[in-house]
Amino acid sequence: MDKILEQARETSVIEDADVVVIGGGPGGITAAVAAARQGCKTILIERYGFMGGLATAGLMGPIFGYTHYNGDGKLQLGSIPVEIVRRLQAIGGAPADDVIDWRAVQFDPELFKHIADAIVLESGVKVLLHSYVVDAVVKNKKIQAIIVESKSGRAAITGKTFIDATGDGDIAKFCNCPYTQGRAADGATQSMGTKFRIGGVTEEALHPTPEDKKKVCQAIDAGKIPAYHVFWGEISEQGVTLRNTEITPTVTRARGFGTNVYDLTKAEIKTRKDTLEIVDFYRRNIPGYQNCYLIDTPMTIGVRETRQVIGDYVLTGHDVLEYRKFDDTIARGNWFLDIHCPLGLYNSASNLCSKKCTIQPDCLMKRKHRDQLYDTLNAPVLDDPSQMYNDIPYRCLVPQGIDNLLISGRCISADHGGMASIRVIATCFAIGEAAGIAAYLGLKSGAIPRDIPVGSIQESLRKAGVPL
Ligand SMILES: Cc1cc2nc3c(=O)[nH]c(=O)nc-3n(C[C@H](O)[C@H](O)[C@H](O)COP(=O)(O)OP(=O)(O)OC[C@H]3O[C@@H](n4cnc5c(N)ncnc54)[C@H](O)[C@@H]3O)c2cc1C
Repeated sequence: MDKILEQARETSVIEDADVVVIGGGPGGITAAVAAARQGCKTILIERYGFMGGLATAGLMGPIFGYTHYNGDGKLQLGSIPVEIVRRLQAIGGAPADDVIDWRAVQFDPELFKHIADAIVLESGVKVLLHSYVVDAVVKNKKIQAIIVESKSGRAAITGKTFIDATGDGDIAKFCNCPYTQGRAADGATQSMGTKFRIGGVTEEALHPTPEDKKKVCQAIDAGKIPAYHVFWGEISEQGVTLRNTEITPTVTRARGFGTNVYDLTKAEIKTRKDTLEIVDFYRRNIPGYQNCYLIDTPMTIGVRETRQVIGDYVLTGHDVLEYRKFDDTIARGNWFLDIHCPLGLYNSASNLCSKKCTIQPDCLMKRKHRDQLYDTLNAPVLDDPSQMYNDIPYRCLVPQGIDNLLISGRCISADHGGMASIRVIATCFAIGEAAGIAAYLGLKSGAIPRDIPVGSIQESLRKAGVPL
């Protein structure tokens, strides 16, 4: 039997809100807080038992894209994202200085869970955890309700405006909104991966000798360890935590689609296995790691790229590289095109792939293409370095086909290159706040998202302290 027919059933409506935010990650938290603070009755629905999305579930850090590109330490964003960092700092969940390195601020993912609870609840948002949104009921181009499954059973939640902050564009998919997935040539998405925590490293581990680095590189290139590059306790290799006896490397990779349950299953098992091998290699071979131990792997595989919901504008990699500005800007991004090989290939020296991959000759990971076009790490320095950011147009948040839906976070309208930049936490925070404000202004004026005068969104954001 290939298919079965499910029985039709009546489903109870358990909640009704002005603004329904689905997904409690960086793109959902700020959206919900922004809408609720404007007085909208707001509900946030999250499938896990805590908020923060990958920022907490994935043992993340640092918050990339937080400060200016040129390292002058000035903030790239304002308002709610900065409030989140200030609140983290107040409880020891982020270092006192904003800038560490790499336009980023470090944070403790565990403490971020607490700050997310506090800021969301204090803003008056109703939160429903352990609730997986599995469908949407649409009539006349408007979502009437979303359907949630939980231990309490199946239920409906009605609302006026819905914000899809699922990272995967789940809600847009349920509504049959058009979307793209992966690179244009073959649809392959960035590889999945994890961060994991190692404890018991000593100071020596943070200052590797060139010989140590070479040893790890050679082991990777010889296929002896399944890491895609070396790691130490340096932020540029994303290995640093708030404690100098711990390291959280980002070095595992698994190819596949983050919306395919078979690929997700394989990726979970592969990255867990790879983690043990990597930790064991460091323990046996690298000074400073002799007594290290694996504290934990994340509670979920990290998914970098899945669906990009097609909006009224598609942000491109070129927009990012050319620091393009838009009249309908609602947020700023300044992260490079951070593409992790869709084939999950490994290369020791850096994130760039030097392998002779015949499957995808024009792959953006190839050094020759990145040097020409796609490596903002080497992007030209502008006369005015404060202009080294790209705008994110409001049109990227407005999907096609549905009139009461906004998109937030990493699944906004962008191509493979554009999404590789906007997917970082700081940018998702900033996009979320704009989505929440737009939801409020639309309800206040009676306009559907597409028809809201963008000047009014920008005015509200600027008033809240967002640099635009
Ligand atoms: C391995 C890895 C390392 C990374 N490292 C960094 C880093 O160091 N710094 C950085 O800034 N960024 C990093 N990123 C990127 C960043 O963490 C994410 O891109 C960012 O969290 C995206 O935010 P989001 O809100 O769009 O999505 P998510 O963080 O994925 O949040 C989406 C939320 O929606 C929930 N959800 C999804 N579907 C449903 C549903 N159907 N019903 C109910 N709830 C649902 C999820 O449970 C989740 O909480 C990394 C990513 C990966 C994979």
